[in-house]
Amino acid sequence: MSENTKEKRTEIGTLGEFGLIDHITKDLPTVNPSTIKSIGDDAAVIDHSKEGVTVISTDTLVEGIHFDLMYNPLKHLGYKAVVVNLSDIYAMNAYPKQITVSLALSNRISVEAVEELYEGIKSACEYYKVDLIGGDTTASPSGMFINLTAIGVNKKERIVYRNTAKVGDLLCVSGNLGAAYLGLQILEREKQLYLDTPGIQPDLEEQQYLIGRQLKPEARFDMVELFEKNGLIPTSMIDVSDGLASEIFHICKQSGVGAIVEESGIPLHPDTEQMAIKFKMDPATVALSGGEDYELMFTINPNDMEKVKFLPDIYIMGEIVEKSEGIKLHTKGGNIHPIKAQGWVHFPTK
Ligand code: ADP
Ligand code: MG
Repeated sequence: MSENTKEKRTEIGTLGEFGLIDHITKDLPTVNPSTIKSIGDDAAVIDHSKEGVTVISTDTLVEGIHFDLMYNPLKHLGYKAVVVNLSDIYAMNAYPKQITVSLALSNRISVEAVEELYEGIKSACEYYKVDLIGGDTTASPSGMFINLTAIGVNKKERIVYRNTAKVGDLLCVSGNLGAAYLGLQILEREKQLYLDTPGIQPDLEEQQYLIGRQLKPEARFDMVELFEKNGLIPTSMIDVSDGLASEIFHICKQSGVGAIVEESGIPLHPDTEQMAIKFKMDPATVALSGGEDYELMFTINPNDMEKVKFLPDIYIMGEIVEKSEGIKLHTKGGNIHPIKAQGWVHFPTK
C-alpha cells in the first residue's frame, strides 16, 4: 500500500489550467448521436427529444470523506466516480448517455495523477457507452474534489420513481449485498497496520472479491436492459448506495407503505458471509447497513412474478405491506424485528 506516486511528476503549473484541460480531453470520441456538441465550446449541446425525457443526476466525491488516496488507486477512483453516477440514472430505469466531470485539484496532484484518474473515467465511459461532454477544472487549497453529472434518457412511461411502491408488491434486489462494505473494512484495517508499521506488505490477496467490490464497482445497466426486453417496469426503484435498510426506508417513506424483509432472502456472496463472521458482524446487518453495493433495489407488481422468476441475478427478498405494519425483518430464527435506517450518514448527529 503506497501513495499514488509515479516516478515522473509534472506539476500542473507547468501545463496551466488550459493546457491541462487540452491534455486530458484531447482525442475524446463521442459514440451517442444525441451528443451534438461535446468539449470545446462554452457549453455542450445534446438532443434527447426523439428518445424521451431527460434524466439528470449529480454527485460529488470529496477526498477524506468518500475516498482515501492511500488505498484508492486513481484509475479505479475515476472509474468508480463514473459508475456511482451512472447507477443513479439506471435507478430511474433510464439509459445514461453523457457525463460531465469537474475537478478541484490541490498541489499534491500531479499531471500524471490526473492522467491516471482520466484513464479510469475514460474506461468507464467506453464500457458504459457514455460520452464525456464537458466539465470544469480548478484549484483546491487542500484535498481533491470530483463532481460528476450524468445525463440519461428513456421514454417517459418507462421512468421509475421511488414513491410508487404499492401494498402487495414484491421487494427485489439485483446481485448481492454487503461485499463493498467489508472490502472497505479490510482496506481500513490494512491502512492502519501500514501506518503502525511502515513498510509492511498488505495482505489483500485472498479478499480480491470484497476489495474489488469496494474499489471497482459496476452499475447494473444489464437490469435496465433486462426489464425492457421482458416487458417489465418495476413499480419503484432505487440504487443501493447507502445500505439496504436506508434504501428501503426511502422507498417506504416516499411511497407511504411499509415492508417486510425475509433475512433468508437477502442475497450474500459466500466471501461476505465468511468475512462478516471473521469481523464478528452479522452478515444480514452488513447487507442492511453497509452500502456502496450499487445494486438496484426495486418493487414489482405480483402479477409480474412469472416474468421475474426466471431472470438471472434477481432476488425476491420481501413484500410491501401497509404503512401501519412498519418496516420489519423476519429473521431466519422466526423472529420479527423493526429495521432501523442505519445507512451511511455523512453528517452524524451527535
Ligand atoms: P469556461 O471558461 O467556459 O468554463 P473551460 O476553459 O473551463 O471553459 O473549459 C473548456 C472546455 O473544456 C469546455 O468544453 C469544458 O466543458 C471542458 N472541460 C473543462 N474541464 C474539463 C474536465 N475536467 N473534464 C472534461 N472537460 C473539461
Ligand atoms: Mg470552466
